[in-house]
Amino acid sequence: MKDLLQIDGPRLWASLMDMARIGATAGGGVRRLALTDEDRRGRELFVRWCHEAGMTTWTDEVGNLFARRAGDDDEAAPVMMGSHLDTQPEGGRFDGVYGVLAALEVVRALNDANVRTAKPIEIGSWTNEEGARFTPAMLGSAVFTGAMPLEDALARTDAAGVTLSQALDASRARGTRAAQGVKVDAYFEAHIEQGPVLEANGNTIGVVTGGQAIRWFDVDVTGVAAHAGTTPMRYRKDAWFGAAQMSLDLERALARYAPLGLATIGQAQIANSSRNTIAANLSFTVDLRHPDDAMLDAMERDLRAVCEAAARARGLNVSVAQAWSSPATPFDAQCVALVEAATKRLGYSHERIVSGAGHDAIHLARHCPTAMVFIPCVDGLSHNEAEDALPADVTAGANVLLNAVAARAGAYAAAAAHA
Ligand SMILES: [Zn+2]
Repeated sequence: MKDLLQIDGPRLWASLMDMARIGATAGGGVRRLALTDEDRRGRELFVRWCHEAGMTTWTDEVGNLFARRAGDDDEAAPVMMGSHLDTQPEGGRFDGVYGVLAALEVVRALNDANVRTAKPIEIGSWTNEEGARFTPAMLGSAVFTGAMPLEDALARTDAAGVTLSQALDASRARGTRAAQGVKVDAYFEAHIEQGPVLEANGNTIGVVTGGQAIRWFDVDVTGVAAHAGTTPMRYRKDAWFGAAQMSLDLERALARYAPLGLATIGQAQIANSSRNTIAANLSFTVDLRHPDDAMLDAMERDLRAVCEAAARARGLNVSVAQAWSSPATPFDAQCVALVEAATKRLGYSHERIVSGAGHDAIHLARHCPTAMVFIPCVDGLSHNEAEDALPADVTAGANVLLNAVAARAGAYAAAAAHA
């Protein structure tokens, strides 16, 4: 295909707004938790639209929902697009659903242009991406790619004690096809950025190069409890002030990794806290992120060094224990290049960007060649009822998806072949 293909922007927007009515909240957002009645209705609407576009649909044994447009070589591994239809409890109209409906719009546009592809094209809508009802997040794609055993996923329970297995039956989402061992030629996911960078830089498209590495730590600081009124300051071993120094020293030390290196202390707890007792035991969490594993190694060394130095200076004990980690996930160079080439040919302003959030594509990247397309979201807001995106950006992202997927799938104009 030499010519640029174009999606129908108003049609995609109308589908997004139709889907946003299912689980619509008073605040203008959407509540469509995984495998609830709202999720079932959302899936049924999507399936109806897929059938109208001539696709076949099915679900697998963990409820991942697929739609397929046949290719000339129907035995070939499919080029897949996708994302998720579930939302946060007070979620927005674009997180996840954009990637699913942009994928549907890609198929509609190929149909309209009478374009055929050598490879089949499939859409995957992954179960329980948000992690708001069942943990972990990205559960369906984790099972699909073998990162999580099926039995483990099925046994997960929500806050009411309902297992994922029961919820699959209640929402009629359980399928018979095996969730694992499915060959995929390549996977492309369009998503709102969920951060402020593209908007701040005035760019329409983020060419996503991968997911960043994440490490979680538990830091425990131990001092000596003592009376707040009788202990002179110089005799104290105060875990609170020690932890405060560690926090600020960490922030200062990590400045040299800006803007890519990120550190967050999201939880802190004083054991047996009392307003008139010097804190003896304080624990806090640290979340460190960087796109490069080696740089994250260096950040971890800095974290340990500042904690030990502050503890030594104050006569405290400190332990820094890693609680969880996920390595950097670089996307496939060829797939990223297809996204970038499509973006340039379409004439959209763009930049290369690393995904700060988790996505199904991070799991898929360990299963098959993968890339993502980001579009800006207004004020960088996501996981928020006010989440918004501009129609022009919604159209642009889907156009990039269309042309990247068409190139990967071997698209050609069927009408021209018969002329
Ligand atoms: Zn999402």
